[in-house]
Amino acid sequence: MGSPMRAMVLDQPRQKLRPAKLERPSPLPGQVIIRVHACAVCRTDLHVVDGELPDPKPHLVPGHEIVGTVVEIGPGVDRFRIGERVGVPWLGWTCGVCDYCRSGRENLCPNARFTGYQIDGGYAEFTAADQRYCFALPDSYDDVAAAPLLCAGLIGYRALSMAGEGQLLGIYGFGAAAHIIAQVARHQGRRVFAFTRPGDDKAQRFAETLGAVWAGGSDVPAPEPLDAALIFAPVGALVPAALRNTAKGGTVVCAGIHMSDIPAFPYRILWEERVLRSVANLTRRDAEAFLALAPQVPVRTHTETFPLAAANDALDRLRAGKLEGAAVLVP
Ligand SMILES: [Zn+2]
Ligand SMILES: [Zn+2]
Repeated sequence: MGSPMRAMVLDQPRQKLRPAKLERPSPLPGQVIIRVHACAVCRTDLHVVDGELPDPKPHLVPGHEIVGTVVEIGPGVDRFRIGERVGVPWLGWTCGVCDYCRSGRENLCPNARFTGYQIDGGYAEFTAADQRYCFALPDSYDDVAAAPLLCAGLIGYRALSMAGEGQLLGIYGFGAAAHIIAQVARHQGRRVFAFTRPGDDKAQRFAETLGAVWAGGSDVPAPEPLDAALIFAPVGALVPAALRNTAKGGTVVCAGIHMSDIPAFPYRILWEERVLRSVANLTRRDAEAFLALAPQVPVRTHTETFPLAAANDALDRLRAGKLEGAAVLVP
């Protein structure tokens, strides 16, 4: 019997998480046991808790932006040693043998398992993770600052890499992912146009402090046609809005895992070789590339910390759009 640990548990979608005492996990072959120092709160956690993503693991411990120290290793672990700091992202396991895995698209593996969804995650004092999906983290980030890099950063970076080389980049929804990716885009020499909820002056000022050349409500036309737009807000109506703001040949990337329905729109706003696509999950290659790039920018994360027991408050603030940057739970 392991010793008990504190965790926050999702018993039923659309219910508050329950503070619980669980047995501390023991490592299976290839797994590391991590003492969690910080776990950022992602919008995907909200979609899981709110029942917008089907069939989470029963009595799930959410959380997939985990920073901690390896305290125990299972048989066969060779990538990390006890005492090393690691990060754990959303992609928790892939099969390695399907056509997607073998063609460098493990993010689309039909057998993939995700941290804080099918696998217990980081809203706990300890978590177990497959060593092959854990990453060393840049030393220049403390635990809290590093946590949002692991999903807001990684999936944001994958979305940005799908946007092409265009200079004029729109970002819809200025939350955790956008606040990181705006800094990367600026570092790449792009001009960032930030679209927020109409009237959200605070978010617009925040975007400007991160290098946006323009910030306004999503109901306002862009001052210039955009080469590409990234949509981080889970609002389907932003798709035609972004297409209308995009130049010929431009790309609109939907970066979230869930979105409200997209309203019908006239073909002419897609015509002229505009591209509309989504981005799903991440690959380990994305993680390695982004975690090497972030300290060079350098990306600075803005965080608001919450004790583990206040996870429901953090989720409520995210749902209400009241966070600036990312919420991070500290056990
Ligand atoms: Zn696979
Ligand atoms: Zn996430």
